[in-house]
Amino acid sequence: MGGEFDLIAKYFSPAAPEGFLGVGDDCAIMPAREGRQWVASTDLLLQGRHFSDGDDPEALGHKALAVNVSDLAAMGARPEACLLGLALPKVDEAWLRAFSSGFLDYAAQTGCALVGGDTTRSAGGVQISVTVLGTVPAGRALRRDAARAGDDIWVTGHLGGPHLAWQLSEGRWPEHADRLAQVRPALERPMPPWQLAQELPQWAHAGLDLSDGLPQDLGHVLRASACGARLSYDDLPVSPALAGLPADVQRECVLAGGEVYQLCFMAPAAHRDAIAELGRRHGARITRVGQITAEDGLRVLDGAGRPVALPRRGYDHFSDEA
Ligand code: ADP
Ligand code: MG
Repeated sequence: MGGEFDLIAKYFSPAAPEGFLGVGDDCAIMPAREGRQWVASTDLLLQGRHFSDGDDPEALGHKALAVNVSDLAAMGARPEACLLGLALPKVDEAWLRAFSSGFLDYAAQTGCALVGGDTTRSAGGVQISVTVLGTVPAGRALRRDAARAGDDIWVTGHLGGPHLAWQLSEGRWPEHADRLAQVRPALERPMPPWQLAQELPQWAHAGLDLSDGLPQDLGHVLRASACGARLSYDDLPVSPALAGLPADVQRECVLAGGEVYQLCFMAPAAHRDAIAELGRRHGARITRVGQITAEDGLRVLDGAGRPVALPRRGYDHFSDEA
């Protein structure tokens, strides 16, 4: 692509943090971190699939990194560095300026330094690939295969807002369209709890981030850990933006709704007070919503102990309905 180096220099060359070699060489160099392990994750965002032509490029830059930082948080990791692959059908300087500022502002906030990437012309739409690197205390990452019968199940933040925003923006539930302005930021600018997540390895041993809906996401942990779970529907942290909506709309948003980018984690009951204190210290909501069981299967029960029907399953890119 003509001017590729100019674009990189102009929009994607932040100063590297102490101890790092950043953008400009064949590889980035990262410092060793005493007593810690590196964790890595990558996500692809494709125009027409994950975002549309008209989407706000500044919010898109934020989201491209935030969905990856959410994966680091899910492991209890501290964000350290990221790499950005960009395929662009044309050079649109206004778009690049806004996208890079959304991306780099969030990178600076979270300490997830942009240290490299690749930029090329695309034959189709815009394609964005972000790789993140983080560190955790050695051996203490929150893995999906580490839940144990008797563990408490916790959820950070609120559930349901992004799903409501997505459905309203698709024209569903027109009688509630006036809520869109209130819930749209939750969909467009996910804010994973990356700060408190770094303290979780002290208290929790399993976890993941919520991207496809709580029952579906939790299912991954139950399979990997060969156990089951009981969730208390009445204890779920319903987004305040859902207040007053019909019960079936709320239930779908809370149980089938993805794109939350909050965390679900498992911890021994002995750490209840420490976890509540962690939430207070970070000014974050952390809610105990259920328990891991030895018998498999996921049961969602209401306050009277009756099973709550699960809505159709969460988002799956390869299912027919996706
Ligand atoms: P190479 O030929 O080794 O792939 P490039 O010419 O593609 O290197 O890139 C030059 C430098 O710019 C490298 O350090 C690369 O990591 C960095 N880079 C390229 N594109 C981006 C981007 N979108 N964001 C951050 N760094 C980038
Ligand atoms: Mg390259």
